Amino acid sequence: MCGLFGIRSSERDVARITYFGLFALQHRGQESAGIAVSDRGRVTALRDMGLVTQVFDEQKLRGLHGEIAIGHTRYSTTGSSQWWNAQPLVQHGTARTVALGHNGNLTNAAALRAELAEQGHRLATSADTEVIAALIANDEAPLQEAIANTMRKLDGAFSVVVLSEGKLAAFRDPRGMRPLCLGRLDDDWVVASETCALDLVGAEVDREIRPGELIVVDETGAYAEQAVPLDGGGALCIFEFFYLARPDSRLSGVEVHGARVRMGERLAEEAPVDADLVLPIPDSGTPAAIGFSRGLNIPFSEGLIKNRYVGRTFIQPDQGLREQGIKLKFNPLAEVKGKRVVVVDDSIVRGNTTRQIVQMLFEAGAAEVHVRVSSPPVIGQCFYGIDLADPAELIAAGKSVEEIREHIGATSLAYPSLEGLQASTRRPESQFCRACLTRDYPTAVPAEGAKLRFEPARA
Ligand code: SF4
Repeated sequence: MCGLFGIRSSERDVARITYFGLFALQHRGQESAGIAVSDRGRVTALRDMGLVTQVFDEQKLRGLHGEIAIGHTRYSTTGSSQWWNAQPLVQHGTARTVALGHNGNLTNAAALRAELAEQGHRLATSADTEVIAALIANDEAPLQEAIANTMRKLDGAFSVVVLSEGKLAAFRDPRGMRPLCLGRLDDDWVVASETCALDLVGAEVDREIRPGELIVVDETGAYAEQAVPLDGGGALCIFEFFYLARPDSRLSGVEVHGARVRMGERLAEEAPVDADLVLPIPDSGTPAAIGFSRGLNIPFSEGLIKNRYVGRTFIQPDQGLREQGIKLKFNPLAEVKGKRVVVVDDSIVRGNTTRQIVQMLFEAGAAEVHVRVSSPPVIGQCFYGIDLADPAELIAAGKSVEEIREHIGATSLAYPSLEGLQASTRRPESQFCRACLTRDYPTAVPAEGAKLRFEPARA
């Protein structure tokens, strides 16, 4: 998780455009946001905890002048959710100053950190991102070569935007695990995690940055280099398709909303049920619920109303309110009373939220509550930048479908086949990582996958 944006333009207000680009990418990370600009080689960065609209205001944006800007929205997957881990990071090295934003997780960060420490480089954060910045900032080769050298040393998932020496650079790991695309705003070049950010700033989508490709933009134009050979057919995270990416984005040329509707249609074919209403768990379950409802000709209902303002920094309620639990987030409509309802969600990770929703619907008078999930059971940990849960907490890792049904208290429960999910993307399985659904990992996995593994002991 994390959103990236970058632009180079000598005419436009690059910080303001980046602000709007990040606003479109808010769903990829709500913990912190930041923008770094380069004004004739001088780098200034502003980053803080909170949403894009909380971190920046008119005055702050006006203070960010330059011809290049990069931006980042963060959801922490390595390193704690603290200011010192907010991005873009700025690294002053022996070769250059670098500002950098990263989406993904490195699987060899521990070894690279040890190597940098041995060379006498001190790392100030507990995020794997600093390793990438330090390698580029301390490589004496010209910038493009230094980035290519760094790409060859990294393993795991990394989509990255960089600002250094008056240039904007963007690159993707050789499996293309996290998305990154290239756009044109008239004569200017823009990069973004998802096409929805290019749409918002009025840029045309040029193409996706290829796995292993490095793009460098300077005052003379954009230059592409296949810095690292493509590894197999690629390994785009399938979670992007059913959960993370915004529905109006296009991944591998496929609109995410359409793929999610097809997931619901396929689920209707594979696991039909007699019911009166189909309800989504908003928002990411909504397109699949539309598909499920269409597939079986059962009326679609909003049924559950979501409060969209419950963020990760939400103030915890006191004991009395805590008993209301899930109602802070969802409240059912009266129309579920006496009805056989199907609830469609994108995934079940720990199972606690689903259990509370089922219970809430029964309390609201539903006669039956059937649960349909648009992705197969999550049975493995993610080492590549999606914050799933500790393996011990993954409900499907240790329980059968029937045991999960019992745990969540549903009338019935069904998941789609892996083939069904894959077919909905209209792209072959050879182009995807599906490791948390299969335990078939595309890289060697680190012995230690904990998010806080590089955290210093703080008193
Ligand atoms: S393990 Fe799962 S969540 Fe992680 S990159 Fe692969 S498909 Fe995505």
